Amino acid sequence: MALQRPKGTQDHLPDGSPKLRLDVSARAFRHVTDTAALVLERAGAAFMATPLFEEAELVRRGVGGSTDIVRKEMFMVYYFGDHGGYVLRPEGTAGMVRAFLENGLKQLPSPFKVWTHGPMFRAENVQQGRLRQFHQVDYEVLGSADALVDAEAIWLMVQVVQKLGLTGVQVKLGSIGDPEDRDAYNAYLRGLFAPHVERLSDDSKDRLERNPMRILDSKSKSDQELISELAVRPMLDFLGTESAAHFEAVRRYLDAWKVAYEVDPSIVRGLDYYRRTAWELHHAHIGAKSALGGGGRYDDLAKELGGQETPGIGWAFGVERILIAMRNEGIEIPAAAGPVVYIAALDAEYVPLAAQIALGLRSGLRADFGYKHQKPGNAFREGERRGAAYTALIGSDEAAAGTVALKNMRTGEQVSVGVEELTSLLGSSSVE
Ligand code: AMP
Repeated sequence: MALQRPKGTQDHLPDGSPKLRLDVSARAFRHVTDTAALVLERAGAAFMATPLFEEAELVRRGVGGSTDIVRKEMFMVYYFGDHGGYVLRPEGTAGMVRAFLENGLKQLPSPFKVWTHGPMFRAENVQQGRLRQFHQVDYEVLGSADALVDAEAIWLMVQVVQKLGLTGVQVKLGSIGDPEDRDAYNAYLRGLFAPHVERLSDDSKDRLERNPMRILDSKSKSDQELISELAVRPMLDFLGTESAAHFEAVRRYLDAWKVAYEVDPSIVRGLDYYRRTAWELHHAHIGAKSALGGGGRYDDLAKELGGQETPGIGWAFGVERILIAMRNEGIEIPAAAGPVVYIAALDAEYVPLAAQIALGLRSGLRADFGYKHQKPGNAFREGERRGAAYTALIGSDEAAAGTVALKNMRTGEQVSVGVEELTSLLGSSSVE
C-alpha cells in the first residue's frame, strides 16, 4: 500500500522535518492563526468553533441559489448522510451565522464580533494554491449594517497580514449595491449582451438569464474580449443613493486610517445574499491565484437561512495561500524555543528520577528528559540539538546528594544545584 496523503491535502510538518518548507511548516501555520487571534481578539472578537459538517440544505442556501452549478457541485460533493444529508463545510460563514441564530447569541453585546479558523473542503481541480482541504481564518460581525463595521473589518484583515510581515498585499474594494441596484445592473447587462449572445461561452449563455453579473468574472477569453469591446459600465455606476453613501463612508474611514486600497469595479460577488461592500485581498507574488482572501457584507443571509433578519459582514483568508505568500517574500518566523532544561541520567537506574524531576518542573517551564541513560558528552549534544538552555546530568553522586550537575549551554558554566532549587533557579533565568 502506497503511503500517500489524499490528493489536494497537505501535511503541516514539525520543525526539523527533512521536507520542511515555510508553506508546509506547522509552526508557520500556528504563527498565522496565533497572529490572527492576537489582532482579532484585541479588537474584541470572540473565538467560536462550529462543526466541520453541516446540513446540506444550510450549505446549499449559504452557497446561494444563483451561483454557477459548477461552483455548487464543487461545494456539495462531500455529501453523506441521513435525512437531508450533510456536507463538509466549504466555507465558514453559513455555520457561524447558523450558530449565532440557533444559540441566541443576539443577546450578547452588539454588534457581535467573532472569529474562527479551521479546515474547509471543496472538490477542486488541484493545482498550486488550490486544495481540496484547505484552512481559513474567518472573521464575522453580526448585528450592524454600519459602514464603520465594514471599514473596521477591512482594517483588521490588513492588520493581520501586515503583522505577519507581508508587504505585497493589495485591497481591491468594490460595492455590489442593494438588491434593487443589482436588478438594475443585471437588466442593463442583459440588454447589452443579448444582441451578442452567440459570442458568449456556454457558461455565460447560461448566466445571461440567471445572473448576468457573473459573466463579468468569466474565465473565458472570448467572453473577456466581448466585455472589453462593449465597454461595460461598472456596477458602481448603478449604486442607489443609500448604497452609494455607504460605499463613500467605508472609503472615508479607510482613507482616514490610511488603509491603502484600490477601487475595483470588477469585484462582483455572485451570491444572492451579498450586499454593498465587497473586497478581495491580493498578493503580488503568488501568481494567477493571487487572492489571499475576500470579504463582503451579507445582510440577507440570516433570513435566507431561515432565521431572523440580521445584518452581517465577514471575511476569510486562506492560511495556505498566506503561507505561500510569506514563503515567496522570504519571511522568516521566530524560531520555536527549545526546553529550558534537558535532564539526562548517566545510569539506567536514574532515568525515572530524571523523568520525575522534569515532570515536576513542567508546572512552570519547558523541561525535557532522556528516556535512556547517556554518557555526559552525548547528553550535552542532545541538549544542544533540542535547543535547551541548560542540560542537567544525574549520576550516582547527584542522586545520593539530591542534586543535578547543571550546565549552562551558552556559557559552558557548570554548577551543582539542589533539585529543590531548580525551579526557582531556572524559572528566574530569563530563558523561559
Ligand atoms: P472564498 O471563500 O472562495 O472567498 O475564499 C477565500 C479564500 O480562501 C481565498 O482567497 C483563498 O485564499 C482561500 N481558498 C479558497 N479556496 C481554496 C482552495 N481550494 N485551496 C486553497 N485555498 C483556498
